[in-house]
Amino acid sequence: MNEFLKNTDRIEFTVTLACTGRCRHCSEGDHIGCREHIDADVATASIRKICECYKIKSLMTFGGEPLLYPDVVCVIHSTARDLGIAKRQLITNGFFSKDLEMIQKVAKDIALSGVNDLLLSVDAFHQETIPMEPVKNFAESLVSLEVPVRISPAWLVSTDDDNPYNNRTRELIDELSYLGIPTGEGNVIFPRGNALKYLKEYFPEGVSESSPYDEDPRDIRAISFDPNGDVLGGNIYKTDILEIMRDYRP
Ligand code: SF4
Repeated sequence: MNEFLKNTDRIEFTVTLACTGRCRHCSEGDHIGCREHIDADVATASIRKICECYKIKSLMTFGGEPLLYPDVVCVIHSTARDLGIAKRQLITNGFFSKDLEMIQKVAKDIALSGVNDLLLSVDAFHQETIPMEPVKNFAESLVSLEVPVRISPAWLVSTDDDNPYNNRTRELIDELSYLGIPTGEGNVIFPRGNALKYLKEYFPEGVSESSPYDEDPRDIRAISFDPNGDVLGGNIYKTDILEIMRDYRP
């Protein structure tokens, strides 16, 4: 086994960078012209191969907005469930359609696919461009189908800092309290992408780009796939995932 991957126990898919939001805190930037998404067959074949050699404990799908491609998301999660991956997480802003029937159908497909930790991004930043109504419809459908959901807000400075954004976020969480969904710890916005551009005054002067989610290249815990198939310096459309993992060097 590759020594740099000896602790690998997680798989992540950035399903697409296309997004329905235009968040000023987004670490990915503006998402302009992003349409690409990961291929479901190649993604699921890669999950199967990784699971033959590694004990994978969790898998996550996110974006962009991953539910712009619900079939891809659902087949990735049902594959993970069938292979015995215990934790199967999806991060979504909850806005992929305004059509109630479509919203309910996607919620049902998610329930059937075995997602067991759905993180719903609701906060002052997301709701600057994402309407609450379809998000509420989606959340209501998920709750009625007993999909485990947590609200996952983005906080500015810290979870308890008193600033206008955090206060608006608290109001939005209150607005969803009728659903009985727990609020997870969410995340504190870090200086990258749009956040560094539009929220500069909330970071220490001269701060450089950083992310708490960056991996130690000498100790890769999560195998992270980009929408174009890039992973660990290789690409799954060109090279077998196990070969990429075998040949990986920091
Ligand atoms: S923060 Fe999430 S919802 Fe907002 S633009 Fe970025 S990917 Fe889209």
